[in-house]
Formats: sequence, structure tokens, C-alpha cells
Amino acid sequence: MADLIREKGLLYIVATPIGNLGDMAPRAVEVLQSVDVIAAEDTRHSRRLLTHFNIETPLVAYHDHSDERRLQVLLNRLMKGDDIALISDAGTPLISDPGYRLVKEARSRDIRVVPIPGPCALVAALSAAGMPTDRFLFEGFLPAKAGARCRRLQQLCDDSRTVVFYESPHRIEDSLADICQVFGEQREAVIARELTKTFETFLAGNLASLCQTLAEDDNQRKGEFVIIISGAKDTEQHDLSPDALRIVKILAEELPPKQAAALAAKITGIKKRMLYDALMGKSKHVPD
Ligand code: SAM
Repeated sequence: MADLIREKGLLYIVATPIGNLGDMAPRAVEVLQSVDVIAAEDTRHSRRLLTHFNIETPLVAYHDHSDERRLQVLLNRLMKGDDIALISDAGTPLISDPGYRLVKEARSRDIRVVPIPGPCALVAALSAAGMPTDRFLFEGFLPAKAGARCRRLQQLCDDSRTVVFYESPHRIEDSLADICQVFGEQREAVIARELTKTFETFLAGNLASLCQTLAEDDNQRKGEFVIIISGAKDTEQHDLSPDALRIVKILAEELPPKQAAALAAKITGIKKRMLYDALMGKSKHVPD
């Protein structure tokens, strides 16, 4: 049986550095040297990495938007006994990176899929941020459009788990501003930037202070980012202080409930949703 399985090739999923070439695992180099072909997200980008490690294995392009034919070519090669390694531009393939379709189709054909673990920005950031890591929610990239982004954030803001996002320099300020608006100014967060590289930075503080730091310092908006937000506190989900309740009620005398809740959220730093619920009589408040 083992021989039968071995007749098919192996599909290796190989993690590569997220900035520091010193993080390339010896096993990753061995596998990349020994396979018949390396499937890479961007062959020109990966060629530089492979040259650095004297890896001369042929490269082919593969990403999740590759046409069906390209996927089939790789699967046929695996079925015929070729070993293939999948790499992405950086980090662990399939983690906000291509590879899902290939792995799924390979597994459905009983092709052995072998992980070669290594760098991953999500894990690197969490491991050093000082945020709770016992339970966390990885959301990858937030939607690019503000409306969809805020709707996604609304779905997440009451979760008690640590929430992790990836973000690019083009959108870091807009995304952080929306996170701040929906999660509230007081929510604690960490921005992990340029991990493993020269300008690696961890910024910690509440969301309002982080937005301010980014607005004031161009350098903090450059590079690659992992955003880590602390989970909602249980009390945050249920209790509203008498002051907050008074503010939202006063505003609601002059404004529609949604606007009153939004304005009260800006004044108090408490989540809009919670203030709205309190107005509608759906949540408790702490008695005087
Ligand atoms: N597969 C990769 C991994 O394992 O982390 C992630 C690929 S995803 C296309 C790229 C995003 O990961 C970046 O926009 C950034 O959010 C995050 N990222 C990658 N390298 C990073 C680094 N050195 N420092 C901080 N974030 C990084």
C-alpha cells in the first residue's frame, strides 16, 4: 500500500522567509533542491530567493487564479510521480496566499501533502505582541471598500477572542480608522510592522493613540503590517456606565437612534452597537 501511494508524487507546502533570509529552514532548502518542480506565486520574485540558496530546480507559475489547465498540469505531474513544492512570495503558502485549490484537489486524489513549516507573519506577530494568544481569530485582509470593511468589522467587534488582520501600506490608515470607529477608541491593539526586517516595530496602545501615531509619523505607515486587536471584554459586551447611558439618551432626544449612538460612541469611546442596543433597551447598564 505504501508503495502504491509512493507511486504518486508528493506535494510539499514550503514556508519561506517573510523578510529575513536567515529564517529559511534547512529542510525547506533540501526539499526545494530535491523536488522535480517548484510551483511559485511569482516566478521572478522567487527566482531571487532560490538563487540565494543555490537552488536550480525549475519553476512554474501557480496561483489560485491560474486557469484550470495549469492546475491540471500540476495534478497530472503529481499523479505520474513527480514531486512538487509550492511556495508563495513570502511566508506560509495558503495563509492569505495561493494554494488552497491545489491542496484540496491533491488531497481528493490521495496525493500526500507534506507541510514544511516556517515563517508566517501572523504567528510571528502574535508570538511577540503580548496579546492573549489562547484563542484568536485570523481574518486575513479586510475588504478594500469602506462599506464592506465596516460591515465585516461590525461582525467581529463583540468577539472576545484576539482578532488579527493583515494590512498593506496603501490601506493601513483607512483600515485602522475604521477599526477604531467600530471597535471604539479605547480598545487595546498592537501593530506589528516589518517583522524580521531592519525596521521591525511593535506599536502598542489603544486604537485612538495608534491612529494618531500613524497620522504623525510617515515611517509608521511604510512596509507590511499585522494588526492585532484585543478581544471584547465580557463586561464591555453587557454593561454600560450610567454616564454613557445618559449621554446617548440626551443625544437621542435630538437625533435618530443610530446617529445618537454613533455620536455617543465618539464621545465615550464605547462601541456604537452597544450604545444603540442600550437605547433600544436590548442591553444592561451598570446601576448608579
Ligand atoms: N503567507 C504570508 C504569511 O505566512 O504570513 C502572508 C502573505 S500576505 C499576501 C502578505 C501580508 O502578510 C502583508 O500584507 C502583511 O500584512 C503580512 N506580512 C507579510 N510579511 C510581513 C512582515 N515581514 N511584517 C509584517 N507583516 C507581514
